[in-house]
Amino acid sequence: MSTDLSHRTVADEHLALVLEGRAPLVEDGAMGTMLQRTGLLAPGEPPEGLSLSAPEAVTAVHRAYVEAGAQLVTANTFGASALKPDAGLSVDEVFAAAVACARAAEPRYVAASLGPTGRLLEPWGDLDPDDASGLFAAQARAAEAAGADVIVVETMTDLGEAEAAARAALDVTDLPVFVTLSFGAGGRTMMGVTPEDAARALTGWGVHAAGLNCSVGPREAAPLAAAMAPLLGCPLIVKPNAGLPRLEGGQTVYDVGPEDFAAAMAPILEAGAAIVGGCCGTTPAHLAALAALVAAGPRPA
Ligand SMILES: [Zn+2]
Repeated sequence: MSTDLSHRTVADEHLALVLEGRAPLVEDGAMGTMLQRTGLLAPGEPPEGLSLSAPEAVTAVHRAYVEAGAQLVTANTFGASALKPDAGLSVDEVFAAAVACARAAEPRYVAASLGPTGRLLEPWGDLDPDDASGLFAAQARAAEAAGADVIVVETMTDLGEAEAAARAALDVTDLPVFVTLSFGAGGRTMMGVTPEDAARALTGWGVHAAGLNCSVGPREAAPLAAAMAPLLGCPLIVKPNAGLPRLEGGQTVYDVGPEDFAAAMAPILEAGAAIVGGCCGTTPAHLAALAALVAAGPRPA
């Protein structure tokens, strides 16, 4: 493991062990799909606003994950990169409120999430790379000011955007930085990035943990994780959905239940994933099954 932890503020010795690849870490499961189930979100309303308008509902989701065994919970900031100015939410207040909601659930660690902007970088789209860097730097500063322990750049499909976010977080904060990309069932991201290319690039940027999240379930994630593991110079993160999303009556549904989810995560742990959790469609029950699997330790060969 070549992870460089100098100049980083690492929350405690256990997190240092995790970042050195010497201990596993259980992250949380989905936030967005859990908040949708509360019925508190108006159609089209950004979930990030709930940290201010209904903080107890957000904390309740975090608490359910902590009780399920999650050591790290992810603050409700994922959509901040794509927030429209007319949403009336400032980056600083979104991060402060979201980190406070997460901290109130008393997890071991709180991560702040940096998600995609929803725009394409030039020359494929209209987003200037310097503007992207500025946007991610403002979020990273807000995350550190809010007291987050880790910055998680996630669900990225474009290496250029992932790099802008990762480098901004590395440059403007002293926090450990995790980065995960989102690969489709065909084995590439929407922008055509392979797991091998991603592993080499992410290692080159000097991030502290890296891997994949969202898009696919644990069965489809297993070969992707196996492809990334040998090429990464840092711990491997795997946070799949509760299966491939399926549309049913206009609703997105996920079919993989908690026990099947954990069973399909076992080969991913054997492939070397050290930081695991769930993404869309996963629930505290999925996380409880996964946490039990991690606690049981490596299976005898
Ligand atoms: Zn997801």
